[in-house]
Amino acid sequence: MRAIKKNIIKYSKKLNKIGLSTLRSGNISVRVENGFYITPSGLKYSSLKTKDIVYVKLDGTFNKKQKPSSEWRFHQDIYLRKKDARAIVHAHSTNATAISVHNKKIPAFHYMVALAGGHDIKCAKYATFGTRELSKNILKALKNRKACLISNHGQIVYDSDLPKAFELAEEVENLSLQYITALKLGKPKILSVKKIQKVLAKAKNYKRG
Ligand SMILES: [Zn+2]
Repeated sequence: MRAIKKNIIKYSKKLNKIGLSTLRSGNISVRVENGFYITPSGLKYSSLKTKDIVYVKLDGTFNKKQKPSSEWRFHQDIYLRKKDARAIVHAHSTNATAISVHNKKIPAFHYMVALAGGHDIKCAKYATFGTRELSKNILKALKNRKACLISNHGQIVYDSDLPKAFELAEEVENLSLQYITALKLGKPKILSVKKIQKVLAKAKNYKRG
């Protein structure tokens, strides 16, 4: 378990380092048996110790002496609903957040949008952070997807392990920057659902091969 906590700290520091989420914003969790480990509330990532990482059971209970991230509920709800979710990264990254404040999704302006699982990356409706209402909105936007934006808030992704989830969060931020840049030149050409389905089929075969 110590190795899992250490890995969470490593990636939390990386969140800060590469500018994906500054200071205390954003949070990371990893699924374990009957629950998940998550970054704590209110502590700077740069000073995190393994004892600060909080174990939250799948039923939402945790040691009251510890304080998990105030956004632990959407981690819990994703783990309850998405059986393939093994790690979650949530960030207030600048470009993804910039799109989210317009309550816009990222369309298939680039084929890499397919990394999130389909022909777009949806934007979950706004609700107060840490509420069940927000979990509900996020799960709706995550239907058949591994990533979404959260209106007036940021982005959230999950994957089969922490390195993969982190990479996907980086990719969502990168796509957000590319999309904003493309919009400066006018209306970008959007790829059809059929074209994205071809990308998804190819990616699947590539993984198998
Ligand atoms: Zn947040």
